[in-house]
Parts: sequence; structure tokens; C-alpha cells
Amino acid sequence: MLLVDTHTHLDMAEYEGDLPEVLERARAQGVGYLLVVGTDLASSGKVLGLVQTYQGLYASIGVHPHGASAVTEADWGELKGLVRSPGVVAVGETGLDYHYQFSPRETQQALFRRHIEMALEAHLPLIIHNREATPDCLGILREYRSRSPRGVFHCFSGSKETARECLEMGFYLSFAGPVTFPNAHHLREVVKSVPVERLLLETDCPYLSPQPQRGKRNEPAHLRYLLPVLSQLYNLTGEDIARITTFNAFQLFGMGTNHQEGKIAYTIRNSLYLNITGRCPNTCNFCPRLERPYVKGHYLGLKQEPTLEEVLTAIGNNIERYDEVVFCGYGEPTERLDVLKGVAKVLKEKGSKKIRLNTNGQGDLINKRSVCPELAGLVDSVFISLNSPTEEGYRELCSPGFGDRAYPALLAFTRQARDFIPEVTLSVVDVPELDVEACRQIARELGVKFRVRRYNDLG
Ligand code: SF4
Ligand SMILES: [Zn+2]
Repeated sequence: MLLVDTHTHLDMAEYEGDLPEVLERARAQGVGYLLVVGTDLASSGKVLGLVQTYQGLYASIGVHPHGASAVTEADWGELKGLVRSPGVVAVGETGLDYHYQFSPRETQQALFRRHIEMALEAHLPLIIHNREATPDCLGILREYRSRSPRGVFHCFSGSKETARECLEMGFYLSFAGPVTFPNAHHLREVVKSVPVERLLLETDCPYLSPQPQRGKRNEPAHLRYLLPVLSQLYNLTGEDIARITTFNAFQLFGMGTNHQEGKIAYTIRNSLYLNITGRCPNTCNFCPRLERPYVKGHYLGLKQEPTLEEVLTAIGNNIERYDEVVFCGYGEPTERLDVLKGVAKVLKEKGSKKIRLNTNGQGDLINKRSVCPELAGLVDSVFISLNSPTEEGYRELCSPGFGDRAYPALLAFTRQARDFIPEVTLSVVDVPELDVEACRQIARELGVKFRVRRYNDLG
């Protein structure tokens, strides 16, 4: 397991005596990369020194809003010089703090704007500290909207509404030890509203030690205490949370490396997913297949389509341990009907509990014959993406290569599937303006199940 601590203050005096041991303990707990966040000019300089000394450390350069009034023009000039140093992956921490208000509001705001400018010029994300200043904080960020600033709201403690606004602006949200506190019910509800694809983990050490270390000096090794809480909230495994948040840190900060080998078999929760093709006759406008073929931290861009043997090798042994095997990936599995059937047959023989097919329902057009009878006894459940209650809507959303034949074929496939596959479900993605009720009605009329998937939440 590999974890990334995206917010630490390892430059602080608390670690003067034992930093090498602190880092060793972090590594022993899987925390492979750490972002050390500067809080003023001196601290930023110290952070750079640490990054050059220890492996796996990255730097963020900035002045905390607390110290805004102490910043001179000369300081700012020096800070701007530091931002191009090797190992710098972010600007901050910056933002607004109206709780303590150690510096006047106007001074904090002016310095926040300077940080945003600096981040935009250097093409770096921001690390934002916001305490009791949400309207001003979001207002200032909106001023720069046309230039799309990126970044993270660190140690997020706002409401669901604020979370939604931050997410809409493209920001990530990061959570620390407080999510583990027994009475933090409200905060945990907020976490649930954040898509896991925008979630980052941090300790904010030496502060905010999680349960059961609360009250003691915090350190990156304690990041692991967040995993059980988050896996419960997201109904994912700790392994899933680690992989996804590590990938998110790579996406935002470029921390660590991302192996670009497309996966044929991958797990989410206790399900095994099979990625057997990247081809699909549709080009749905919500599908990240072509530009961003990632699912929950797994990279699915296949260099070439795997053979039956390659799929079986990728699956490995102990197939009984999975609750379900799903033919999914980014691509239409019935494009490889022979591989699909061949793999399903072997899995059945090996005692696989349940086999599901996720499809766009155009298998008959792709294969120029009726495919459902061939799936009988091999597939236990099929999810068909309905996506729209009308043919016109479907064409607009999915740009099907089969044109106006696609939607009727999808409906015909659904009808036929009922006779050959035990469980049939029509699914839609809740894109804005979709008439979900009309879709549900179609499923009802066809006598099949219905499911709404969250936009951008695959897997
Ligand atoms: S049918 Fe599925 S794989 Fe094909 S373009 Fe649409 S969302 Fe992507
Ligand atoms: Zn901090």
C-alpha cells in the first residue's frame, strides 16, 4: 500500500530532534511521499532544504494568512524566487483565516491574491487554508475563474454546500485527523458528499493527531488511522482509498510516479473488473474513455487488446474470493464476444460466484447476430446503459456510431436479455437535465431493474 501525506509541517521545531525516525516510521506505514508546506519565507527556505536532503519529500512555498502583515516587499521578492526551485509542487499555504485574524482581513486578502497570481504564473496548484472566511475565499478565487486556478482546500471543515462550490470550481478537498474524532458526525457527512476522485489525505502534522493518538504530536505515520474511517464512508477498502488518493496526489501535484501500464484485471472493493477492450461504437459525452481512462485510481488505457490467455493470466487464481467478476473497463465488452465468452466459461468452471456484464446494449449490431442466447449460463447479471428515455436524447448524449439503429437495438437487447440472463438492469448516469423518471418508467415497462449511477462515478 502506498499513501501520500499532502500536508505536513516537518520543518517545524517539533521535529528537530528526530526527523529521520519520523520519516522512517512514515515509510514503514506505507507513506511514500510527503508534501512539506511552508508557512512563511523562513519556513519555505527550510522546507526546500529538507526536500533536498530526504527522499520522497516535496515542497510547497508560501506564507500562511496568519503572517500576512509581516510580509515585506523584499520578502515577497525572495519568495517568488524560491517557487522555481526543484521539488516545489505547490504554492501555499495561503488563504484567509478570520478566526484568529492575526493579520487584518484586507492584508490577508491582498496576499492571497498574490499567491494565486504566483501559482498561475508558475502553473502550480494552491494549498488553501480557509477558516471562517468562505465567502471571501471563494469570491477571490472566482475573480480568477477564467484562468482556472487549481488546488486543494486543506483540512476541509466547511459545509456540504461549500464543499459543492469548491468541487464545482475544480478543487480537491483534503481531510485530516478530525474525521476520526468520535463526535465529528457532521464532518463525516460532508466527506460522503465529496467524490473519492477529489479526495486527498493529510495529517497536517504536528497538529490534529487522529484518534487514538489524539493530543500527542502528530506525524505522517498516523495517516493510516484515516483509512478505516474513510473506507467505511465510501464503502471501499482501505487499499482502494490508498490507491485512489495516491493517484489524486499524482494528478494534482505530480507527486510520485504513475505507472502507465493499462490494467486488464483490477479490483474495487471485493469485485474483480475485467478490461478487455478500449473499443466502443459510442462516444458518450460523459465518458472519459479517450482522454482520461482511469477508474478509481486504476489506469485502463490498453496498448493492445489482451488475448483470452492474457486475460486469464491477469485474473490469476483464487477466483472464489471475489463476490463478483465484472466485464467493464472503458470500452464495450461485446466488441470481444469470443474473449468474453471464453473467459466467463473458465471462470464458471473455477467456481466464480457471480459474473456481470456492463454493456451499451449494442452487442447485436456489433456482432451482426443475436448475442443474448450465447450468454446464457455464462453471465448471471447484465447492466445495460440506457442513458436516455428517447432515441433523440440518446443520439445527442452518446453519439452512437450505429446512428438511429443504436437505441432500438439497445431496447431489443434488453427484452431478449430477460429470457437468457437471470438479472437484467437498465442504468443511467445522472447527467444534468436527464429525465430519470421517464427512464425508470421504461425499465418498469420492460420488467427489468433500474439503477442511477452518479455522474463520473464508474466502478
Ligand atoms: S458506451 Fe460506455 S464505453 Fe462506450 S462511450 Fe459510452 S460510456 Fe464510454
Ligand atoms: Zn498547514
